[in-house]
Amino acid sequence: MILYNTLGQKKMEFVPHSGKKVNMYTCGPTVYHFAHIGNLRTYIMEDVLERYLRYDGYDVTRVMNITDVGHLTSDADTGNDKMVEGAKREHKTVMEIAKFYTDAFFSDCAKLNIKTPDVVEPATNCIDDFIKMVSTLIDKGYAYLSGGNVYFDTSKLDNYYVFGNMNADDLEVGVRDDVDHDENKRNKTDFVLWFTKSKFEDQALKWDSPWGVGYPGWHIECSAISIKHSGEYLDIHCGGVDNAFPHHTNEIAQSEAYLGHKWCNYWFHVLHLNDARGKMSKSKGDFLTVSLLEEKGYNPLVYRMFCLQSHYRKPLTFSYESLDNTAKAYDKLIKRISALSNEGEIQTDLAKEFEGSFKSALDNDLNTSLGLTAVYDVLKADLNDATKLYLIEKFDKVLCLNLISADESTEQNLDREIEELIAKRQEARANKDWATADAIRDELAARHIKLIDTPEGIKWEIQE
Ligand code: AMP
Ligand code: ZN
Repeated sequence: MILYNTLGQKKMEFVPHSGKKVNMYTCGPTVYHFAHIGNLRTYIMEDVLERYLRYDGYDVTRVMNITDVGHLTSDADTGNDKMVEGAKREHKTVMEIAKFYTDAFFSDCAKLNIKTPDVVEPATNCIDDFIKMVSTLIDKGYAYLSGGNVYFDTSKLDNYYVFGNMNADDLEVGVRDDVDHDENKRNKTDFVLWFTKSKFEDQALKWDSPWGVGYPGWHIECSAISIKHSGEYLDIHCGGVDNAFPHHTNEIAQSEAYLGHKWCNYWFHVLHLNDARGKMSKSKGDFLTVSLLEEKGYNPLVYRMFCLQSHYRKPLTFSYESLDNTAKAYDKLIKRISALSNEGEIQTDLAKEFEGSFKSALDNDLNTSLGLTAVYDVLKADLNDATKLYLIEKFDKVLCLNLISADESTEQNLDREIEELIAKRQEARANKDWATADAIRDELAARHIKLIDTPEGIKWEIQE
């Protein structure tokens, strides 16, 4: 597979460290508000990438953090903690806010057929891991204490701007840094690893540390959580393009300083969803959510298809007019597929050609719009219905648009998928991994699956 790699700024062949095993990391949501459909564009495209890698025979383990502490209102070290702001806004505690919006996030993901990552880890679960990493960075001479905070010293690196020529928008945070200059920093690009003395008197969650009571910076959480679950070598790290700088740049700086070698080979960035006012962002207030689209009568999968119709490396502009066009196209597509009869023997030899075009589309830097075209090509082709259904069902493992209405084989697949989810939830509960367990519970609930405790174990049924 060829993927555009922000590290190197060109398309490259994707070659994981260990054969067919892929360690994938995704920056998770900051859970102080609902995810908007821009955030979800990023998660949809990352989901397609993960599903395609699995389709292509890779054994993927995907880890995602939940940012429930440390992300300030500026992506640099200024402003207030977004979680504290959220709690104030809603007159709740930070942990109540975190739980509510984490659940809301996974329920949106389930509606969009975004798979729950194998590991979901809230930052507040990993304070010891952050402290260990910060201590090592100090011991190795990469971090210093100043004015009560611990900072990463970017002057110790040969090349801090690893992604090369960032454009003006990407550097916006760095520029803003000038405005609110932190006198404790030795260099403008240094960043906080651990806050102790800070202007945030009302910080809700604080922990003891060798440098005094405080809380972690935002960047350290992704490095530490990734290394904790995926080890020293990460194959692919994903996020929205606004995260490339400073967040991912800082992640690379501290991870490589800590490990003493290169950490992650591929950086996958999804371009923004814009609306008439520019980049959709939570801080602008009246943003669009999946629930709002549902209230307006849209099937969330229409939004998934809307995202798949354009390339992840192009900015996408949202309008109801374009979403309406996708809704019409989706309905027509589903009708055409449901008219197929499932009769005849599968024409395996002929099918190969179509599987080849689907694969070439996705192999070419995840060209999802050509992947969708492959579905239309199958419908138009001189193939029997059974072969058409066979191919569309296969492609839909990646596109995940529920293209095939529940026939017998998909029902069996569905049963297996749900049983696997229940088993994964049991395992998470046994490991006291409540975030993963809750995320799976929400995914099941959004799919109207009711769990029933019986003496023989957990049974399930679909609620009407
Ligand atoms: P956050 O919850 O703010 O930490 O963001 C979650 C994810 O959404 C990150 O990967 C961001 O880079 C991404 N993101 C934020 N705004 C947008 C947008 N307008 N379009 C696409 N992705 C976005
Ligand atoms: Zn991150």
